[in-house]
Amino acid sequence: MTKKMIKNILQQVEANHTLDKSEIISLLRIGGNELLNAANDIRKTYLGNEIYLRALVEFSNYCCRTCYYCGLRAENKNAQRYRMTEDEIVSLAEKAYNRGFKTIVLQSGEDLHYSIDEYCRIIEKIKKNDIAITLSIGEKSFGEYKQLKSAGADRYLLRIETTNKDLYEKYHPNMSYENRLRCLEDLKSLGYEVGTGSLIGLEGQTIEMIADDIMFFKRINADMIGLGVFIPHPQTPLGQSSAGDFDLALRAVAITRLILPDINIPATTAMETIRKNGRLAALLSGANVVMLNIADEFYKTKYNIYPDKSGINQNLDEMLAELETSIKPIGYKISDSKGSHLVSNKKT
Ligand code: SF4
Repeated sequence: MTKKMIKNILQQVEANHTLDKSEIISLLRIGGNELLNAANDIRKTYLGNEIYLRALVEFSNYCCRTCYYCGLRAENKNAQRYRMTEDEIVSLAEKAYNRGFKTIVLQSGEDLHYSIDEYCRIIEKIKKNDIAITLSIGEKSFGEYKQLKSAGADRYLLRIETTNKDLYEKYHPNMSYENRLRCLEDLKSLGYEVGTGSLIGLEGQTIEMIADDIMFFKRINADMIGLGVFIPHPQTPLGQSSAGDFDLALRAVAITRLILPDINIPATTAMETIRKNGRLAALLSGANVVMLNIADEFYKTKYNIYPDKSGINQNLDEMLAELETSIKPIGYKISDSKGSHLVSNKKT
């Protein structure tokens, strides 16, 4: 494919926000700065120059699952486990609110210790303040998702990781691809803002599979898409695999922005971990959300999905200062809104 053909594809997608699979594959393979710049332009047209901030609370690193790529997998006996109490979680949410955050993300491994009633109590206490709550606590039943929604949860993150069923089931032992899809459908039907996403760089993953993932995001009408880059964790079965390709992940971010112009796309921590200033590059390629972990270093160092995570030695003031300093020169500023996915009337 020539540069001219890429230019034509970009002109067409900027007008109608649709791409077929072969066009996505071409852009994933050779989309260069033209692709990244087009995504940044679309992001500015639909979402302006604001960056939505999320306060991230990783409240437990216990997990009953054994995902091959993750340092928190139940079989990693070297992981130093912790679990916050109900009071600790609520008080961190209070801290986030007092610091001006309008959204808190409560994230954990799939920890069966907390009951749904306990989650509901936590949500109700946090919602005494005017703050949006995103949950990222794994697969639940329809009834459980419904209870959590009734308690006040606004959004839910559940990455599909890969839409290739064989690859999904290879790297997620004893988990069912169909159940993952069922969870996403349930969440949508209950009125959550739903986030999903993929892990770029899994061994055996092809460009065609990533293109299928991007088409899936559009098909399910996702509200948020998080694209991580695979980083090998030595105490996992994929510890000896090669890391994912940062530039490929960046192109996947940009293409996702082109076809879903008004959704929320975080510049993920993995992007910054794998490449210095990777977060800024993502923000210049269509991403518009930053999550800052507001817990103490004690917890941050132990939420070890992959090693050497960026930002674990910085406190909240330092992280905020660094973010503000980095986005100012590119003309972006931190939003003081909840940053919900407001479906734009510009959407085609
Ligand atoms: S990816 Fe999530 S569900 Fe899988 S082992 Fe890690 S924390 Fe558990």
